[in-house]
Amino acid sequence: MLQPKTKREDFDRYLHISYTQLNTYLKCPQKYEFQYVRGIPWEFVPEYFPFGRAIHEAAKLFYKTLKETGQRIPLADLTQHFKQTWDKETQGNNIRYKENQNRDTTREKGTQLVRVFYENVAPQRIIGVEVPFSVDLVLEETGEVLPCKLTGIFDLIESDEEDTLVIVELKTSSKRFSDDQIDLDLQGTLYSYALKQIGFRTNGDETLVRYDQLLKHKNPDMETYYAVKGNIDYTWAHHLVRKVLRAIDHEVFHPIPGWQCKECPFGTTCQKKQ
Ligand code: SF4
Repeated sequence: MLQPKTKREDFDRYLHISYTQLNTYLKCPQKYEFQYVRGIPWEFVPEYFPFGRAIHEAAKLFYKTLKETGQRIPLADLTQHFKQTWDKETQGNNIRYKENQNRDTTREKGTQLVRVFYENVAPQRIIGVEVPFSVDLVLEETGEVLPCKLTGIFDLIESDEEDTLVIVELKTSSKRFSDDQIDLDLQGTLYSYALKQIGFRTNGDETLVRYDQLLKHKNPDMETYYAVKGNIDYTWAHHLVRKVLRAIDHEVFHPIPGWQCKECPFGTTCQKKQ
């Protein structure tokens, strides 16, 4: 049985980096600087933050109830939990909604997605829900250990009857993933590496990652994708993380203007800095 090996003090004792931090740097190093180096307050909160949190809270309740009681929580209770989380997360916050959307319409979209999740999700044996980890990043070829630990939280770990483990990541987005997105997904690679580091994998050196994607379409839908991650992916990710850490160390914080600027909570600061 999988046991969370990471204690609270492990998170506090070491320098650490998460997938979210790496992803922020890769999308825009200047945004990384504003957020993680200078700690500048956000000008607004993009709606996808509280939305994602409320959806994940509902999924967490679904999986925990199933794991602890063997029963599916009633849909009405799950929907209620989503609504309560959404209302709490968006109360008094400076939320920026998408064009022509507001707190109520986004809440309604979330309610529809919770229903789609409920009708489509088919978990196998649930091993762990929201399992935290903090692991060394070690390059197997040379034994090099990076100066930061990798930290994160597995949304869900399942297994089948043969004890074959699968990492499950729940995503909400407005576009279906492409094959390349799944194959190159850094989060899946890092999380399967973390599972290997705490002593578990699906088969040999490989781990299966399942992505449950909730689509925020006019008619909401859910897609499921699979990726197999192994040593080649881990080596590639290790080199990537090492280069990012070196760039951060050298204060390489240039802006990358693009589609991501529209929802960037540092737009005004960024303009002044140009
Ligand atoms: S506005 Fe764009 S370029 Fe500026 S920090 Fe944000 S993401 Fe980067």
